Amino acid sequence: MFGWLRRRFSPDPIDAQTWDAVRVRLPWLAALDDARQARLAALAARFLHEKTITPVGDLTLDATERTLLAAACCLPLLEVGAMGMRGWSQLIVYPDAFRVNRSHEDAEGILHEGDEELIGEAWKNGPLILSLADVLADCADPRDGLCVAVHEMAHKLDALDGELDGTPLLPGPWQRGWARDFQAAYDEFVVQVERDDDTAIDPYAAASPEEFFAVASEYHFSDPQLLREMMPKVAAHLARFYGPSPFDGKPLSNRSSADSDG
Ligand SMILES: [Zn+2]
Repeated sequence: MFGWLRRRFSPDPIDAQTWDAVRVRLPWLAALDDARQARLAALAARFLHEKTITPVGDLTLDATERTLLAAACCLPLLEVGAMGMRGWSQLIVYPDAFRVNRSHEDAEGILHEGDEELIGEAWKNGPLILSLADVLADCADPRDGLCVAVHEMAHKLDALDGELDGTPLLPGPWQRGWARDFQAAYDEFVVQVERDDDTAIDPYAAASPEEFFAVASEYHFSDPQLLREMMPKVAAHLARFYGPSPFDGKPLSNRSSADSDG
């Protein structure tokens, strides 16, 4: 009985020419099998329909860039689906890294203020913010452990249960197993970073449990072999949560043509 409603509100599909252009520029998309490419196209179409994409300053975004940003943000939603984009409505896009002036009060009630340069930010109940230059840099070197769009979307998924704590909304028993395994891996990683070990994973992951989840998510998409080697239990949870990494089983030397043709 809701067929008419569904038709009326279903987003326009992305046209084939734009999607082909995105496939050339977004190596994660090119590395997916056909079924998951189609799923990503449907999610990106919904994202474009539901989110306002606001370029900052003089920046203008063409259809390919908008679609590329939508598709990159939807990579972590291949298993979760459209419910993973709930709770916020705006993607703000800076041309490059951006400076923010922040103040926050710590646990002792001391106010800290300062300038920070950011490449992305996710507000708990507000916008997602990305630097276009950094999204494109990730696309140019997709196996180096960085993917800012995935990082910020991991924060959005984390916040869906109302709590930014490194554990997304999951069925009960899985959530308990996730919390246990992530906490153990996080504690171990913090010890390594505090010891000044040369860690294979970005030491920023030691900043907090939620940053640990977001950084590990970047490795799931960009260097799944390394993540599995370093943190097998974390890697297994993420492979279940996000589905197999587009680059899983694809050695670094065997890059797709999409990221070698400039
Ligand atoms: Zn973060």
